[in-house]
This record gives sequence, structure tokens and C-alpha cells, in this order.
Amino acid sequence: MSVQEGFNRYACDVGGCGKVNYDREGGTYAVRYVERKWIDANFQQRSATFCTDHAAKFDAIVRAHDADFAAFMKNGAMPSGVTTTSTTTK
Ligand SMILES: [Zn+2]
Repeated sequence: MSVQEGFNRYACDVGGCGKVNYDREGGTYAVRYVERKWIDANFQQRSATFCTDHAAKFDAIVRAHDADFAAFMKNGAMPSGVTTTSTTTK
């Protein structure tokens, strides 16, 4: 049989990455792509597929965000480079 079906296309969503593989679900190449989900600033759930390199970078960004948020919750400290555009009046 010259046509083999059942392959999925896997691609990293990071612009300029260009990593693409065709594989069966759970195959050697398929497991090199992971989905990550997060909540954006508009409280909407977002998701993307990443290659292993960009998944590691995404995870590093989230860990840094978690540390910034933990500091904010502890004493209201804002991360450097982050500004607010409005204030709340009582
Ligand atoms: Zn990538």
C-alpha cells in the first residue's frame, strides 16, 4: 500500500520557529510537541503548541511570572519595568 494514513501534522506556534513533523499520535516525533494553556490579561484561556525548545522558554517565562506574582501578593511589589495605567479610588 503506497498511501499510509493516520499521521498528524505537528508544528510549533512560535513565529519563525518553523519546526514541523508528521507522526502518529504518541510517536517519536509527536512527543516533541506539547500544548501549553494560560490565562491572558483579558482573562481568556489561550493555548499554543510548542516544540521542546520553545516549551522550555515558555515554562521559564511562566516561572518568572509566578515569582513576580508571588512577590506582588506578599507585599504589593511590582516587577521592574511594569507600570499601571490607572489607579483605584476609594
Ligand atoms: Zn519552536
